[in-house]
Amino acid sequence: MLRHLARKLRASGPVTVAEYMREALTNPGQGYYTRRGGVGESGDFITSPEISQVFGELIGIWYISEWMAMGKPNTFQLVELGPGRGTLTDDILRVFKQLASVLSKCDVSVHLVEVSPKLSEIQAVMLTGGKVQPNPEDKSAYMKGISKTGIPIFWYRDIQDVPSGYSFYLAHEFFDALPIHKFQRTEKGWREVLVDIDPEAPDQLRFVLSPSRTPATQNFIQPEETRDHVEVCPEAGVIVQRLASRIEKDGGAALIADYGHDGTKTDTFRGFQNHKLHDVLRAPGTADLTADVDFSYLRKMAQGRTATLGPIKQREFLKNMGIDLRLQVLLQNSGDTATREQLLHSYDMLMNPEKMGDCFNFFALLPHHRLVHPDKKDKPESKSPLPPVAGFNELLLK
Ligand code: SAH
Repeated sequence: MLRHLARKLRASGPVTVAEYMREALTNPGQGYYTRRGGVGESGDFITSPEISQVFGELIGIWYISEWMAMGKPNTFQLVELGPGRGTLTDDILRVFKQLASVLSKCDVSVHLVEVSPKLSEIQAVMLTGGKVQPNPEDKSAYMKGISKTGIPIFWYRDIQDVPSGYSFYLAHEFFDALPIHKFQRTEKGWREVLVDIDPEAPDQLRFVLSPSRTPATQNFIQPEETRDHVEVCPEAGVIVQRLASRIEKDGGAALIADYGHDGTKTDTFRGFQNHKLHDVLRAPGTADLTADVDFSYLRKMAQGRTATLGPIKQREFLKNMGIDLRLQVLLQNSGDTATREQLLHSYDMLMNPEKMGDCFNFFALLPHHRLVHPDKKDKPESKSPLPPVAGFNELLLK
């Protein structure tokens, strides 16, 4: 990967951080996700669904709760962006099976958007036991199968390939893996941070500043910006626009969970290898590269097509979803001390403000009518109140 990049940089000059990140993560031959995947205890970083089954179960309940609040449509697609090892969808499908009597007349299908061939194979084993059909003729999908619980599953490379229709979208630790542009304020105005060969050491990379403004500095820096260093992820903006348009047109909701901020942080681009911080410019393709998600940017890119809720801290969201009660039940049902200790340890990882509780956030896109009656202004007293959105309010256990 370094050789390939060095050749490119020598031939055509420095590249944007976004281009560098895209190559390092998803280059079809050598990209980090394409070849390694990295998620999980034996990989480079651990994610909430890999820590505890409770995480995915509560998210499964969130979708059922929204499905009920939206009048139980008779069909929906569960669409996950960047499913990693497939653990989150697996936990959600288990909840759907346990609540089969509630979902009984609903036609559910699963649609996974995954660029990595290696991870899609791992997902196929996790979700279907490996019984999948590559390149099905009848769909835009590159693979299809049936889940262990009997639900059809399809794989795509791009959200645009997923058929339209009433859908619940899920993106957990997906947006942070999308390429960012980095900008720095200088005395001469905004400049873009670029990646170049280090002239002193030709097998090493270094950051440089663009000598003048770039198309990205012109398009992505707001005139009222007060920070000196800004990261923008246009690809995240495009995907949120797509999600918002689809929800506006066909109905559904999107739940986005990631580490991030509300337009306040500056320099968050970092790498992980073997659960340790890793220099982002060293050995590209061998480490996960990531940047905090700017939720204020996502909200802006929804462009009012949907309502938005959050970001709300992971520990508040999970508490509102009833994680304490779920933990109590699991503790009561577990016979041995090792399992109980494991349950308490994973609860602490997810909820402790110093661990994942505070830095991870939940953010939702919902149709406007889910939060405000369309004719509320005319006859406010004639309508019953809309049920609160679970997770963002305390869950009413009726
Ligand atoms: N959601 C999982 C995995 C997060 S890792 C979890 O929480 O455990 C990021 C995931 O996004 C991986 O599956 C990776 O292959 C996928 N991914 C990264 N960039 C992508 C892109 N541009 N399009 C689709 N999937 C992508």
